[in-house]
Amino acid sequence: MNSHFIVIGAGLSGLNIARKINDLKLGSVEVLEKSRGVGGRMATRRTLDTKFDHGAQFYRLKEDITKLHQSWKQNGISHQWFVSNLGDHWCASSGMTSLAKSLAENLQINLLKEIRTIRYENKMWKIISRDNEEWLCNNLIISSPTPQTVNLLNELSTESVIDSNLFSELKKISYTKALIALITLEEDFILNDSGYCEFEAGQFFSISDQKRKGVSNIPAFTVTMSAEFSESEFENSEELILHKILEIFKSDYPKAKIKNAELKKWRYCRPQTQINKLFLEIAPGLFLIGDAFGGSSLLGAVRSSEALGNYLTERHESKLD
Ligand SMILES: Cc1cc2nc3c(=O)[nH]c(=O)nc-3n(C[C@H](O)[C@H](O)[C@H](O)COP(=O)(O)OP(=O)(O)OC[C@H]3O[C@@H](n4cnc5c(N)ncnc54)[C@H](O)[C@@H]3O)c2cc1C
Repeated sequence: MNSHFIVIGAGLSGLNIARKINDLKLGSVEVLEKSRGVGGRMATRRTLDTKFDHGAQFYRLKEDITKLHQSWKQNGISHQWFVSNLGDHWCASSGMTSLAKSLAENLQINLLKEIRTIRYENKMWKIISRDNEEWLCNNLIISSPTPQTVNLLNELSTESVIDSNLFSELKKISYTKALIALITLEEDFILNDSGYCEFEAGQFFSISDQKRKGVSNIPAFTVTMSAEFSESEFENSEELILHKILEIFKSDYPKAKIKNAELKKWRYCRPQTQINKLFLEIAPGLFLIGDAFGGSSLLGAVRSSEALGNYLTERHESKLD
């Protein structure tokens, strides 16, 4: 029987593995994504005024991402933003989501499919969505942040379908939260030379100038609060959170004139610890990938999905021998 793969999650790791399965002809592949668009935490949002990257701001050019980088660069989707002592930083002028969209081209992606239940029946994985739609496959790849993956796997763990030691490891991974203000300004404001500022202390994690990146055509900043601020304020009302962020921003940057502001919340921003493997096969034909395995960044998401791609290729070739 031909391998049929289902990938849960159309973030960078999910899209990259689906692309590899498709391009290397390892089997047929379908992606199920709960949101209305692809990209996951590589996210771009349109507000009333303009566009913002409100998840990942850039990728660092390192070996793991070279192949993807070459195709993004050749297609004119990504451009160099700045170089610092941490390396070469690249972004996309149509927003980081455009990088995901380019990977998603010609793949079978089903949006607005929130998966709620996974079962193992007659040696097949049965996947059931919130709207009770069902899919069957012999290889299932889950790429959601690990706390969401744990929820999906809970039922299987009580039936002893999955490896209990690995499941315990998985349950230990927690994520930082992120509160973000998307701010448009009345006029240009120079943050620094690059237009990106990361803070070692204080209540901001980073400020990113969307106009300097080429994402916004009007002055606009993505202000990401520190993990500590985000954790302590996360459950407050959105109005109060935004008010607090704007007060801090005004006090630190009194000359920047705020026009409009919106709040964005990420319950799962970055994994606080890592699993010591690039991917997990938690039951035969059930694989877990993502930044909790490869490292807490876009590079980590690529690293994890590339490692699974290599493993599946070897498995495929050994079956052909
Ligand atoms: C605010 C912020 C700033 C960041 N800045 C940077 C940066 O500048 N550079 C960098 O390299 N990294 C950055 N990161 C980290 C980077 O974005 C992530 O490491 C990377 O995008 C993770 O990719 P992923 O594919 O592992 O997971 P995700 O991108 O989270 O993809 C998982 C997908 O699964 C979907 N999903 C979840 N549950 C279900 C379900 N039940 N059914 C169907 N679909 C489901 C989600 O909707 C999502 O699309 C940042 C992250 C955040 C939040």
